[in-house]
Amino acid sequence: MKAITTRAVILKTRDLGEADRLVTFFSQSEGRLAGLAKGARKSRRRFVNSLEPCSLVQMTLRVRKSLVWIEASKLIEPYAALRMDLERWFLAALVCEIFLEMTPEGEPQEKWFDLLEVTLKHLSSDREPLNVILLFILRFLDAGGYLPALDECHVCKAPLQSSRFWCWHTRKGSLSCGKHPLQGGRQVLKLDLGSLVLIDLSRKTPLDRVWRHRFAQDKRSLLFQGLADMISAHTGKDLNCFKMVQKLCLI
Ligand SMILES: [Zn+2]
Repeated sequence: MKAITTRAVILKTRDLGEADRLVTFFSQSEGRLAGLAKGARKSRRRFVNSLEPCSLVQMTLRVRKSLVWIEASKLIEPYAALRMDLERWFLAALVCEIFLEMTPEGEPQEKWFDLLEVTLKHLSSDREPLNVILLFILRFLDAGGYLPALDECHVCKAPLQSSRFWCWHTRKGSLSCGKHPLQGGRQVLKLDLGSLVLIDLSRKTPLDRVWRHRFAQDKRSLLFQGLADMISAHTGKDLNCFKMVQKLCLI
């Protein structure tokens, strides 16, 4: 029963009884887990301000009989700017909800951890947080193998550069050129060539440089809705934070 020390981002916490907390987190070495922090609501020494959602921490864990015990947690980065701005806060909460719903439990994925950490950093500092969330979702879906190849018309096989307008059926994963438009309501995203080229770049550019890509302001809302629909199809439900972001007219 050896202790494990790892970096982790807190995804969700829930009070248990008088003194304890159940904490779900995504860690660098163990992936997504839920663990019990005994006495967390009383012990200021072991858990000082370090179990808040969207915080980056250094955590010490022990796994005993398939239960995870959080022995200590030390705050590395609270991303304070996220907590002072409603738009940034809900977008960060959406990142956590996507990790809660779409990552497998107990499977370490370093590329997902790196993406989570760097996304929270950019969400708290970038002047255009909605652009950050689009890049995050594309990158996350690509890393999980959820994003189809978007490089030719599925009907005539024409390459991207051959058409200025495209239809992407987010549930079927098919892409078609301007000569072969698709029907399908909100599941069909009508995209211009520039947005598709950026989608392609956002999956190929190294993680530290991907944040330079900027989707056109008037395309962001549409793309956000399309990606939200794609995630709903995979999770089988509408995520709460998508609803909150839409309700607050942040997009
Ligand atoms: Zn075509």
